[in-house]
Amino acid sequence: MRPAGFAAAVAPAGRCPFGPPGSPRPGSPYTRVRLCSPSLFSPALTRTPPAAASSGRRTWPWLASSEGGTGVTRSDPLNMTLFGPPGSGKGTQAGFLVEHFGIPQVSTGDLFRGEIKAGTELGQKVKTYLDRGDLVPDDITLKVVRRRLARPDAGRGALFDGFPRTVGQAAELDRMLDQMGRRMDRVLFVQVPREVLVSRMAGRLTCPRCGRTYHPELAPPRSGGLCDVDGAELVMRDDDRPETARRRITVYLEQTLPVLAHYRQQHVVSDIDGTGSIEEVRGRILRAIDGRRRGDGS
Ligand SMILES: [Zn+2]
Repeated sequence: MRPAGFAAAVAPAGRCPFGPPGSPRPGSPYTRVRLCSPSLFSPALTRTPPAAASSGRRTWPWLASSEGGTGVTRSDPLNMTLFGPPGSGKGTQAGFLVEHFGIPQVSTGDLFRGEIKAGTELGQKVKTYLDRGDLVPDDITLKVVRRRLARPDAGRGALFDGFPRTVGQAAELDRMLDQMGRRMDRVLFVQVPREVLVSRMAGRLTCPRCGRTYHPELAPPRSGGLCDVDGAELVMRDDDRPETARRRITVYLEQTLPVLAHYRQQHVVSDIDGTGSIEEVRGRILRAIDGRRRGDGS
């Protein structure tokens, strides 16, 4: 579901705001050689990654260097984590990144649900914690993540979402990636001033029938109080009241800042200004990823 406030900011369907193949990207040493699929820039953002890539080392033709003209320059996986408080538009950008880079989104929440649904032994353990309302312990969480990273479509990397949640998990993930001959290449932190977050989240109206969200100022429904799609009467969820929104932001930052500090020591964090349009934020994120060349001398 798209966060409220972004509906009006999406580029016209079928037009990539970063230009056609071959066009230079401002401030980037790379030239675009691949056109984003039109669906990326339609309002119905998809979170589905492209068809699973085969295993083995992958090339990134769309990151081909414009200097030297040798074409493909990267063949190692790209592992990233995206952090951003509720209302930061993180989910929208995650959907873009997984399609743009052809990597899967690794969300522990999704993985837990998948294991439970598949009835695995791990899934049964996970369920006992979740049913009690407890957090799933790190060792089980990491097993689930390890299993996900072993799947072929993660051969070219992954975008972690909602994980690592603690410094302990981050350190374990470092070890796991190291064993796979990988590393965390880039950690993106989408920052938005607190009151902007609150105004984006607060007052959000949700359709109880189809789940679509609206915002009185940023993304108003066409006819006051009714869903554009099915005409159901819109409601405000408790989560979207200003005081709840402020508390969610505070809790998020208390949990996340120590994890970011862990990655800051590795000099892989990019602080992204999350204000402005979706395309502006997306451009900042892509420039930060282009600058990620940590210690590879290229
Ligand atoms: Zn609806």
